[in-house]
Parts: sequence; C-alpha cells; structure tokens
Amino acid sequence: MVNSYHTHICYSSISKLMKHTQQTQNLLIDRFDRRVDYVRLSITDRCDLRCLYCMSEKMTFLPREQILTLEEIHFIASAFVALGVNKLRVTGGEPLIRQGVISLLSNLAVLPGLNELVMTTNATHLEEMAEAIHAAGVKRINISLDTLNPDRFRKITRVGDFQRVMRGINAAGRQGFKKIKINAVILKNRNHDEVCDLVNFAIDKGFDISFIEEMPLGMIDAHDRAEAYYSSDKILDDLKSQFNLLHSTESTGGPSVYHQVVGTHTNVGFISPHSHNFCSTCNRVRLTVEGKLLLCLGNEHSVDLKKVIRANPGDFDLLKQTIISSLEIKPEKHEFELTEKPVILRHMSATGG
Ligand code: SAM
Ligand code: SF4
Repeated sequence: MVNSYHTHICYSSISKLMKHTQQTQNLLIDRFDRRVDYVRLSITDRCDLRCLYCMSEKMTFLPREQILTLEEIHFIASAFVALGVNKLRVTGGEPLIRQGVISLLSNLAVLPGLNELVMTTNATHLEEMAEAIHAAGVKRINISLDTLNPDRFRKITRVGDFQRVMRGINAAGRQGFKKIKINAVILKNRNHDEVCDLVNFAIDKGFDISFIEEMPLGMIDAHDRAEAYYSSDKILDDLKSQFNLLHSTESTGGPSVYHQVVGTHTNVGFISPHSHNFCSTCNRVRLTVEGKLLLCLGNEHSVDLKKVIRANPGDFDLLKQTIISSLEIKPEKHEFELTEKPVILRHMSATGG
C-alpha cells in the first residue's frame, strides 16, 4: 500500500460516485473557448525501449512512492469523465509494463459517459497482451513503429527486438480493434527514406498511419534535433510520388491533418508541431504518472492533482473543482524552437505522448 488513499476509495466506490455526479454537459472550457474532452493518462514513466528522440541513454525514473497508484489514476480519470471528458488515452512510458494495467483498462472502459478508451504502445508486449487489452474494452490502439528495417529499429530504439514487435503488431491485427494506427517519428537521414514503405505496410495491414515531427521535449544526447528535422510537407511530397492522396476534412479535434490513400482503407495523418501549429483546436490535457495535470505539451503549466487527492482522500467534488480551475492556466499555444536548448525539460516518456 503506497498511501492512505487506497484505504478510502476503491474502483467500486468510484462507480457509485460517478452515478451521482455524471455530467451531461462538458464543464471544461478554457479562456480561449476550447473545450477539453480528451485526456491522456501516463501510467508509467518507465519503458523497455530507449528511442533516440524520446529518451537519453541513461534515464532516472521516478521512485514508486512518487507515482500515482492505479486506483488514484482511475479516481482522477473518473473526475474528468464526470466533467464531460469522453475520450481517454492510456500511454506512458510504455503502459504495458505497468503491473495491473489490464485491470485498470477494464475499470476505465466502463466509466459512465466515456465514449472511447484508447491506448498507445510500442508493441513489445502486444504478442501476449493484445487479446486481454481488446477484451478489457480498448477500442483503438496506436503503435509506434519508425522503421521496417530490423537493424535500424535496433539503432533507433537502442535495445528493441524488431521481430518481437512485428509479432505484437500481428497479434493486435487479429483482435478486431476498431482501428489500429502506426505512429512514426521521422528523422532526416535516419528513416526519412522509408515513408513510402511505412505507408505500404499500413495499407497491407489495413491500418492508419501518422507521421510525427520530432518535438524538443527533454534533453537527448543522440542527435541535433534541428539537423534531424524532416518536415511533414517534405513527407507529403515524398508520398505523392507514389500514392494518390485525398485531403480529408475529417477532424479528430486534435493535431492530425489527414489524407486518405485513394483506393485503400488507410488514412495518413501528419502531426506537425513545427510546420503547422495546431494549438487553436487543442482539446486535450495530460496527466503524468506523478499526478501533474499538464495543460499544454509545450509549456510547463501544471497543477499537482496528486497533492490534492492525497491531502483530501476521496473528495471527488474538490478534485473536480480543482480540475475546472486548472483550465484557467491552459496556455494559448506551444513555443517549440528546434535550434535552441529545449525549454521543456521533461521527456515525452514522462509527459505521456
Ligand atoms: N511507449 C509508447 C510508444 O512509444 O508508443 C507510448 C509512449 S510514447 C512517449 C508516445 C509517442 O510519442 C510515440 O509515438 C513516440 O514516437 C512519440 N514521441 C516520443 N518522443 C517524441 C518526441 N520528442 N517528439 C515527437 N514524438 C515523440
Ligand atoms: Fe519508450 Fe515510447 Fe519513448 Fe520509445 S517513444 S522510449 S517506446 S516511451
């Protein structure tokens, strides 16, 4: 038992609280009239890979007493859903290495008012866990895969086993998820020459794919981020030489701009924090495993929800009120500058990508 919280509240009592407080209206509107209906929950800062753009080779992870218990994560998530959030993404670090993840997923999936529970994973544990994740009620998963070349995969992830990840991806493909999406961070001279191959891979599997520009989160030692920058516009040009792409008007309310690959079931998305600022439509906030509510990916603005719930165990109303007030400090936009040292010192693994 990590703290007194666990003795005051458990999954079933949270369900009862939710029944009394379920909201039909979204109460999470910020100063810029943006409605927050999507929360990303980082359930661990740890990972079994060490991707070059995400982590430095030697990382210090949080001690156990500093991280939220699974019940605390569920309690905070319940408050968000009670306030009108309808989509939760479980992420990390690598979420599948947190013990008890499947029971957390099952308990999140049934929160009254939640439309969609989704997750992001590096696939290293999907081979043995895909079935349980699907059964727990996860509707869609995003899988990170930056290359189809096993040697490159090892270089980019520093320690990853490509074949194991492929087995994980195939296991997920068999489960009948509503959608699987590949996320690929593209770096110049590391994997930019694979964008067409990655799209063909997605088409073959019936997946979507999103290309992500690297963001300057945390200090990394492997490369100069400005030198490795490869813009979404360049990727789009590369893809147009091989595919017929139709710009899609479909919006997830998020940062992705989508194109459909004509004649296939695959959509190609672009997340372009540098070349196309997406902040005006931002509909999301993030909860770190330390219990910090991050109001913006590219700013340090945060509110310590762990402090609130540990000082006032079981006080659902206070937690909801704290969350509502937090939105007042959600910044208008992120400021990413590739040529300077990162202003955001936390790595993406701690942020919850
Ligand atoms: N470990 C899981 C995974 O890799 O899918 C989930 C967490 S990871 C932090 C979530 C996503 O963030 C991954 O798709 C990863 O490629 C992306 N990511 C990590 N660091 C990034 C960075 N500096 N810039 C852009 N994307 C990054
Ligand atoms: Fe781990 Fe995901 Fe970060 Fe790679 S991107 S080091 S898999 S958390």
